[in-house]
Amino acid sequence: MNAPVSAIEQLHLELPDLDWITDPNRVARLSQDFSWFSPILKRQLADKRADTVVRPRNEDEIRRLVGACARHRVPVTVRGGGTGNYGQAIPLQGGVVLDMSGYNAFLWARPGVGRAQAGIRLADFDREARPSGWELRCIPSTFRSATLGGLFGGGFGGAGSINYGPLAAPGNVLGVRAMTIEPEPRIVELRGAEALLMHHRYGTNGLVLEIEVGLAPAHSWLEAIVSFDSFDRALAFADAVTAAPGIVKKEVCFLASPIPDYLTSLADHLPSGCHAVLLLVAEFSESTLLELVPAHGGSVTYRKTAAEVQASNRTLVEYTWNHTTLNALKIDKSLTYLQSAFTPGRHLEQVRQMEKLLGGEVLMHAEFQRSMAGETTCSALQLVRYTSEERLDEIIAIYRANGVRINNPHVYTLEGGKAGGVIAPEVIDMKKRFDPQGLLNPGKMQAWPAGA
Ligand SMILES: Cc1cc2nc3c(=O)[nH]c(=O)nc-3n(C[C@H](O)[C@H](O)[C@H](O)COP(=O)(O)OP(=O)(O)OC[C@H]3O[C@@H](n4cnc5c(N)ncnc54)[C@H](O)[C@@H]3O)c2cc1C
Repeated sequence: MNAPVSAIEQLHLELPDLDWITDPNRVARLSQDFSWFSPILKRQLADKRADTVVRPRNEDEIRRLVGACARHRVPVTVRGGGTGNYGQAIPLQGGVVLDMSGYNAFLWARPGVGRAQAGIRLADFDREARPSGWELRCIPSTFRSATLGGLFGGGFGGAGSINYGPLAAPGNVLGVRAMTIEPEPRIVELRGAEALLMHHRYGTNGLVLEIEVGLAPAHSWLEAIVSFDSFDRALAFADAVTAAPGIVKKEVCFLASPIPDYLTSLADHLPSGCHAVLLLVAEFSESTLLELVPAHGGSVTYRKTAAEVQASNRTLVEYTWNHTTLNALKIDKSLTYLQSAFTPGRHLEQVRQMEKLLGGEVLMHAEFQRSMAGETTCSALQLVRYTSEERLDEIIAIYRANGVRINNPHVYTLEGGKAGGVIAPEVIDMKKRFDPQGLLNPGKMQAWPAGA
């Protein structure tokens, strides 16, 4: 049910100085994200549209817009870069898409901590922070277009999670400045655990204006690919690099055959049929890394220094995480993907077991990282040769029967995804406090029916 047109017209009349986007094609584009990776979400969400899009430039514009939406009871769906995979930024019930990309100032960086407005692109944050010797602790492979607010509202982590775990690990997000959705909006600073109650809630329980995050030392990152002819050896190598405390690293990505064959723009560096490990390590750690390569029967087939990466504007990060899926989908549109978290300590055994059970149909792509508790482990963004929804459910069931957690990327509600069916009462309390009319992204938090 879309908001009454008269309410939308009222917004345009009351706030004529705001940067409104009403062209139907642009509204349609800004109402969508990357949920088309899932054939199921693609079908469910393709026709969802905002009634209008607005791109505020400062806090006063956001406050006036939000106040008017609360008075007229118009749904508000916040959008960063629109790179989410589960329809997080897609408005289910029309209303306003609040595009935060114009609210993007970098505020400051101090040793180990930085702060910016939510609409800043992650690449811009890092460009601003690096001269002080620091960078973001983890970046999704979409760092060029994704925003800090979007990573906080809909993301998990990415390159760098191998050191710092997911964004949700305590200490990675230190505080947020958030606005209530009320006729007279209030602004509140939340710190630590309280701030995390808004993390990965798809913008349903607060509009985040600023985010303060822990930073990591910015090293010169060498990028390398090590290729193997054995699945097990490549996997063991990836695990060994991850576990080696003296190798300073940012990314270890394991791609089982035939996934490397889909990365056609790297074909010169990926022997046909190989298993590959994509790596970012500090340049000073290269010699130690190279000691591990022959010991595992691998060979270095790609090597770029940080300066070469910068000059070429091509980074291996954009072949890892869900960019692996994107690159493969360009070659084979029948593919889709899953997301799973393996059990630390049993992760290699589980990866091998799932390869044994489903290899050929489910293509293994594992991202090494630290868990919330700090253990080294891996999660997977497996490619799936999609046949039917029923078969996808069977594959999920096989994973779960083998003790592997699946975070289903084919559902758009909070409950259906990582939350595992339950929303914590503190999260709902936050919703009551920041969005008492239930206007934020209605339909995504099932525990809170629209208009309640
Ligand atoms: C090819 C590809 C690769 C990816 N790789 C990764 C990866 O490595 N790691 C990872 O974690 N994710 C990954 N993703 C998912 C996504 O890119 C990231 O999570 C990204 O950080 C989302 O940022 P965004 O600005 O595009 O958010 P959007 O998609 O615009 O928004 C995401 C959610 O956050 C909410 N939101 C946005 N801004 C605010 C705000 N200011 N206040 C409150 N809520 C807000 C939105 O309402 C929405 O629910 C990938 C996606 C693709 C398509």
